[in-house]
Amino acid sequence: MTRTEPPPIPGQRIRARGATVNASGRFETERREGFADDWDLPEEDRLLQTEVRLERPRSALTFQNSPDLPFDRSINPYRGCEHGCVYCYARPTHAYLNLSPGLDFETRLIARPGIAEVLARELARTSYKVAPIAIGTNTDPYQPIEATHRLMRQILAVLADHRHPVWITTRGSLIERDIDILAPMAAEGLAAVSISITTLDRGLARKMEPRAPSPTRRLAMIRALSAAGIPVRVQVSPLIPGLTDHEMEAILTAAKEAGARHATSIPLRLRWKSPVCSRTGSRQRCRGGRARSWAGSESFMVAATTTPPLAKG
Ligand code: SF4
Repeated sequence: MTRTEPPPIPGQRIRARGATVNASGRFETERREGFADDWDLPEEDRLLQTEVRLERPRSALTFQNSPDLPFDRSINPYRGCEHGCVYCYARPTHAYLNLSPGLDFETRLIARPGIAEVLARELARTSYKVAPIAIGTNTDPYQPIEATHRLMRQILAVLADHRHPVWITTRGSLIERDIDILAPMAAEGLAAVSISITTLDRGLARKMEPRAPSPTRRLAMIRALSAAGIPVRVQVSPLIPGLTDHEMEAILTAAKEAGARHATSIPLRLRWKSPVCSRTGSRQRCRGGRARSWAGSESFMVAATTTPPLAKG
């Protein structure tokens, strides 16, 4: 994938994007560095366009055996995520594509058309053993480009045909489009949905999750899915110590009132070489330093990494 935009000026935020950096992926042989050239140009007005590359999938199901995870298989219809959450633990995976975990992760996306047909072939194998499939555990299947590519809808149609259990995690309101497939599956105990709500503060959500639906909209999603008989879990994740942990009770109360039946919370998890860690220039500095709460800033992440993990809620 060819890079068409220069890396941003360090620390300068691009409108409606999460990352403030576009550090090189760890497998790239070239290193890029932004710098201020002292010209007084309105760089902040520049809009970074989203690009989508197509990839023909050779497989649909990804298997893993981590004892930390409550599922052994998943499907990823997209790589990268336009929601652009600053804390996203999937960002470093973009380095495998020789792309940056920073702005590339949220602007240079990959869609995998044909994945539903490949899935149908995999489910039809005589050796296949049924177990719930998790979707949305890496990147969000209902991110904005799903409106065009409709890969999730095609995948759900295959799963419904096979009466195969599925568990979806998302922040994207496009899931409401697929209630007509999910509700009959849920009636047979084959579908459940997790909706992630990190904060009820619209301003904070805008900074942390610039292209994801607002907290109010996500509560409306819980309401719509629950009303259709689909079991909904609220994921208060990531719980960010010092920034959002005081909202736990309010989020749980609002989600319960909207119809959520279950709740989970996972503390913020920062992976080495995440874009915010890259800004510090060293692992040591990423682990230390003074706390200051500004979402998306280096200091915000440092604050989070220096606070002890919380127990799951
Ligand atoms: S919606 Fe999920 S996958 Fe997408 S950027 Fe946010 S945390 Fe990452």
